[in-house]
Amino acid sequence: MQQYKQAYIRGKWRDVEPVSGISLLDSYSGEPLAEVALAGTKEACDAVLAARQAFLAWSSMPVAVRAQLIRKVGDALANDIDGLAEAITHEVGMPLKLSKRIQVQAPVAAWSAYADMAEKFAFEKRIRNSIVTQESVGVVACITPWNYPLHQITAKVAPALAAGCTVVLKPSELAPAAAYAVARAIEKAGIPPGVFNFVMGEGRITGEMVVNHPEVDMVSFTGSTAAGQRVARLAGNGIKRLALELGGKSASIVLADADLKLAMRHALGACFLNSGQTCTAISRLLVPAALYTECIALLKQGVGAFAMGDPADPATRIGPLVSMEQRERVKAHIAAAVEEGAEIIAGTEAVPPLGWFVAPTILGKVAPDSQIAQEEVFGPVLCVIAYETEEDAVRIANGTRYGLAAAVWSADQNHALAVARRLRAGQIDVNGAPFNPDAPFGGFGMSGIGRENGIFGFEEFLEPRAIQLPA
Ligand code: NAD
Repeated sequence: MQQYKQAYIRGKWRDVEPVSGISLLDSYSGEPLAEVALAGTKEACDAVLAARQAFLAWSSMPVAVRAQLIRKVGDALANDIDGLAEAITHEVGMPLKLSKRIQVQAPVAAWSAYADMAEKFAFEKRIRNSIVTQESVGVVACITPWNYPLHQITAKVAPALAAGCTVVLKPSELAPAAAYAVARAIEKAGIPPGVFNFVMGEGRITGEMVVNHPEVDMVSFTGSTAAGQRVARLAGNGIKRLALELGGKSASIVLADADLKLAMRHALGACFLNSGQTCTAISRLLVPAALYTECIALLKQGVGAFAMGDPADPATRIGPLVSMEQRERVKAHIAAAVEEGAEIIAGTEAVPPLGWFVAPTILGKVAPDSQIAQEEVFGPVLCVIAYETEEDAVRIANGTRYGLAAAVWSADQNHALAVARRLRAGQIDVNGAPFNPDAPFGGFGMSGIGRENGIFGFEEFLEPRAIQLPA
């Protein structure tokens, strides 16, 4: 059984003095997986001070030297892609072959991408009589969730370090392997002590402590909207730079001329990836009322391909949820939806005897304003909503408090693009277009503030400064 009982502060591993602890179970077998010690505020406070002390030297280091060290972090992580994918699968439940590609290989590649970006970035330019420089924001508190743990840590820590910031990471206690792996890789890469520090602890204790700490200049938070609201209030007290990546209730609009077979197949994949535990899960499927029956028939046919089972088995398309609590929450959402009048199209089949499974569920006749169509479920639950006109579809798609992702399908790409331009969401895929790691990622409305990934994610960690020269 893994023991996660340390913090990494000032370049040293140290046993934490835990205020509490949790025992993690394997999300499939239910066997004991790990013991995690949760620090209180003492280690977190020291981590912030370490980051502050390291800031001046790190931010003033030549960019090429900084970039070279950051590349080495990616290289160190690349040495154990299989081991890390297995660890994340045991924690989160995502099928292993998907974990390897999505949970590990993609974020590992991002370290060198941010190093390249920093090297090419114009940190200084002239605007009339001003020299405008881009300064590192300072000490950044990075707070991350469990569902794509290595990706979420990387999307904050790599660009923050590349931009010359120093970091205190408070990762999710439910998926600790990735944070430990990143800290070990940072140590191996030879990043100077104090530049990166990490402390595992509860959000309400350790997380809030770092958000509140006066030596923290910026908070970069990914998690639920409820926790994000709390973090925003606290960060607001200190007028701190804030980046929030929060929840979503993303919609796909299938226009009447779309290739229905393809659109329905994609709809299932885009909702059920990682058992729906994906912030950008496309959980509302908007179909023309006249094609509703046809769409439902295609969905019913397609859902059979989502084989549940052991995440280590290459035939498994859908793994268990992260925990029993999560499964119970998802089941409660489904029961409430049925009470509200939704029809169960799929989701009643038997689940494997091991693991906290919810069968991939399709709910039909969902009312756009019902709770199930408005609230993030974070489970494999697809809501099918019939619309009458394109105007309706756009209104329904935009009609939640969120605005993270969306999709549009049409045989006429220009038509789909015109509809996409009307959607208030941060990332919109036309006709099943692939994810672009360099495109800005983030949300409108209560899905967040700011953007991650690519140059947009990098610039979040910079503060412009203007120095005027006499004319
Ligand atoms: P969560 O909000 O419970 O926890 C996220 C992190 O915040 C954890 O490290 C937690 O310990 C910490 N935290 C909780 N309360 C805090 C507080 N008061 N102060 C400081 N830190 C606190 O979320 P979760 O269950 O780990 O993750 C699932 C949620 O994350 C979903 O809502 C999902 O949509 C969202 N998410 C968003 C994105 C995105 O990029 N928009 C990506 C992944 C997940």
